[in-house]
Amino acid sequence: MTKLMRAQVVKAPGKMEIAQVPIPEIGDDEVLIKVKMCGICGTDLKIYAGEYAKEYLPLISGHEFWGIVDQVGKNAKGIEVGDRVSADICMTCGTCYFCRRGEGLLCQDFTQLGIHTNGAFAEYVKAPWQNCYLIPEEVDDYSAAFIEPMTAVLQASKVMDCKISSSVVVLGCGLGMLHAAMAKVRGAAPVIITGDSRSRLELAKQMNVADYYININEVDDVVAEIKRITGGVGADYVLEAIGQTATYEQAFKMVRRGGVVEAFGVVGQGKTASFEPYEFVLGEKKVRGSCAGIGNDWAEVINLLKYKRINPTPMFSQVVPLEDLEDALHELKSNKELIKIFVSPEITERIFINK
Ligand SMILES: [Zn+2]
Ligand SMILES: [Zn+2]
Repeated sequence: MTKLMRAQVVKAPGKMEIAQVPIPEIGDDEVLIKVKMCGICGTDLKIYAGEYAKEYLPLISGHEFWGIVDQVGKNAKGIEVGDRVSADICMTCGTCYFCRRGEGLLCQDFTQLGIHTNGAFAEYVKAPWQNCYLIPEEVDDYSAAFIEPMTAVLQASKVMDCKISSSVVVLGCGLGMLHAAMAKVRGAAPVIITGDSRSRLELAKQMNVADYYININEVDDVVAEIKRITGGVGADYVLEAIGQTATYEQAFKMVRRGGVVEAFGVVGQGKTASFEPYEFVLGEKKVRGSCAGIGNDWAEVINLLKYKRINPTPMFSQVVPLEDLEDALHELKSNKELIKIFVSPEITERIFINK
């Protein structure tokens, strides 16, 4: 008889149901993980709304997870039942033009666990053993469920490649807080973060991620403000972490001649932002893009967490039972005070973190 587990299944756009489904069966190259915690991401909101990866429904989403290894496939090495693990969610074909070049994120057959295949809003999830990373005890249970978003931030930081003592502007005060913290770890100065929520900027200040905190509702012209802070030159690096055409256009203007705009915020497909080619030719401005973490980014983020180079804990709002996932998705949309909500299949009542 097949064993069953509880899972939240997105049946169709806007339709989620808690269901009893078979526990995933693993192959020789996979491990079964008992889910301890899984963070809710903006992507989960989009999957639920039918705005992203719609053709993969019905689906159990959830990709920001960690858990305890429950079963190990025959071919797995260095991983045992009982281990605390997180998993790189990127699955690449290994043989396409991009994979051969070592550019797995651009794989023509790219899929992500919990986005295109069943994920961790369930009691169990399976993953390829080679994607699993051990989590040391120094990394607490909440931060362990925050490794995946931090890998995306780390990857963007590598692509942007800001230098010591360079000026960095981060547009957006959600994940932007972490982008700013990462720039500071790399020695950027000054680091400037912008946002439209007083409470979020206040939180960023508590976390000490930047040198300047700009509320865009309290300045006339944010581009002029960045120019003022950078002595009229503009910023060496500008990272867009909002995903709006208007803020991309601001980024193109506030970056200095020869500077770099790092594109991180996702704007809906088909929308366009305009820039002045003159500025990019004569001004030698550059744009770089980055979408996710992959591979060893996991080990590197775990290392940064272990040695406390970045502490994301103040961003954590609540842990909710698996049964509350749909409510939590709606709450995240309407309540700006909430930043990170984790889901746990093992609890029956909400836990309020940092309260
Ligand atoms: Zn995510
Ligand atoms: Zn490929």
